[in-house]
Parts: sequence; structure tokens; C-alpha cells
Amino acid sequence: MMVLHLNFPFWLIKNGIIKIYPLLSHNEKCGVVIIGAGISGALAASYLGKEGIKTNVVDKRHAGARSTSARTALLHHGIYIPLQDLIDKLVVDNAVASYHPCVDAIAKIETISKKVETVPSFINECSLQYATQLSHLDKLQNEYKCRKKYRFPVQWLKEEQVSKKFGFKTYGIILSNAEGSVDAYKIIHNTIKNYEAKVFDKIIIEDIQKQKSGFG
Ligand SMILES: Cc1cc2nc3c(=O)[nH]c(=O)nc-3n(C[C@H](O)[C@H](O)[C@H](O)COP(=O)(O)OP(=O)(O)OC[C@H]3O[C@@H](n4cnc5c(N)ncnc54)[C@H](O)[C@@H]3O)c2cc1C
Repeated sequence: MMVLHLNFPFWLIKNGIIKIYPLLSHNEKCGVVIIGAGISGALAASYLGKEGIKTNVVDKRHAGARSTSARTALLHHGIYIPLQDLIDKLVVDNAVASYHPCVDAIAKIETISKKVETVPSFINECSLQYATQLSHLDKLQNEYKCRKKYRFPVQWLKEEQVSKKFGFKTYGIILSNAEGSVDAYKIIHNTIKNYEAKVFDKIIIEDIQKQKSGFG
């Protein structure tokens, strides 16, 4: 039987510790300090690095070891709230404008992966969203129509098409071919290296003080 659950973050075990960073034992001056060396901190460091801003990244644990190492790795164009529900909460334009950058972000992460990794870990993937109960089918179909209307890259597959293509039984699925996956732990270390940000880990930021010369 295949073991699908581990008690450790998968990406950390797969890669091992990629790099050990120095402890901060002296005062450091820089343009920007990013608190948190997860995927968000690394991507922020890449944008600042591109602008030539001297950036330091600090983390209270090993860089990349927090939720970034535990993630499933799927890069999906949807967000946690279905588009049709988001349209009910916000005006249409704002709801659609929240979804579109997610499609663009997948392409941007692919570009970063190709730029910073010797063997890019980005892989094009598809995602399936399916109705587990017949009573969920209408809502799923409406979500499909809504995403199609606003030009998101989705297809609807009926029960028999799903069975033929994927070999399992369900009432219908939203299929998207525009997704990806990436080894987020590896890409963090490669991004930081590529954009020459300095990392200091095992340092907790407890307080931020505003001084005349900046923040300390
Ligand atoms: C089980 C699981 C599965 C997931 N699956 C997916 C998925 O398939 N696709 C997807 O897109 N997302 C997924 N996610 C969500 C994704 O992991 C997170 O959105 C993403 O990793 C967050 O990255 P981050 O850099 O913001 O946070 P983190 O990776 O948690 O990094 C934050 C860092 O800040 C540091 N820090 C916090 N406070 C301080 C402080 N005071 N001083 C110094 N350092 C500090 C922490 O030590 C940590 O390293 C999943 C999450 C989990 C838990």
C-alpha cells in the first residue's frame, strides 16, 4: 500500500537541507528587511533584487521550513472562495480582478523557476474539481459557467467523459489545464541566491523600532 501521509514536511525530506545560512551576530544595514524566508519572502526578495535594492531576509527557523515545506505544491488559478460566491460578496469587476492575477502568477512562477533553477521544478498540471454528491452538481456547473463567462481556462466534463478519461466515477468535473506545481522549498533557496539577497535564519524579530535613520 502506498503511504500518503508523513509526519514531516515533504519538501524538506525530499531535498534535505539545501543551504545553512549564517546567524546575525552584528549590525547589518540594508534597504529592506523581509521578515520570513518562506515563498512569499523569497518572491518579494526577487522583486526587490530586480530593482537593485539591497535586501536582507530573516527567519526565526530554517529558511523555507514552515508552511512552504508542508504544501501540496499545486499552483491553482482559483482561490478558496468560488468565483460565483466572490461575485455575490464583491462587485463583478473586483471578483474577476481577484482571480485573473492567479492565472498570471502561475506563468510568472514558471518563468522564475526556469531562470533560477538549473533543473526547473515547475511542471504544468491540470486540476479537477468534482461533485462528490449529486446535490452539489448544480453549484459546480454554475461555477464552471461563471469561470467560462469571465474567460478562465476551464472545461466541463460529464460523467461518462470523466470515466473514460480518468477512470473514476463522479457526476461531472471542472477541468483546468492551466495549473502548475513547483518545489517551493528548492525554489526559495535558488531565488534568494539568484537575486543576491542575504539570509539570516534562526533569528526572531520581536519588535520593530522607527528611528530617524529608518527602522531598527
Ligand atoms: C498542508 C498544507 C498544504 C498546502 N498546499 C498548498 C498548495 O497545494 N498550493 C498552494 O498554493 N498553497 C498551499 N498551501 C499554502 C502555502 O503553503 C502557503 O500559502 C505558503 O507556503 C505561505 O508562504 P509564506 O512564505 O507566506 O509562509 P511560510 O512558508 O510559513 O513562511 C513564513 C516564515 O516567517 C517566519 N516568521 C514568522 N514570524 C517571524 C518572526 N517574528 N521573526 C522571524 N521570522 C518569522 C516563519 O518561521 C516562516 O518561515 C498549503 C499549506 C499547508 C499547511
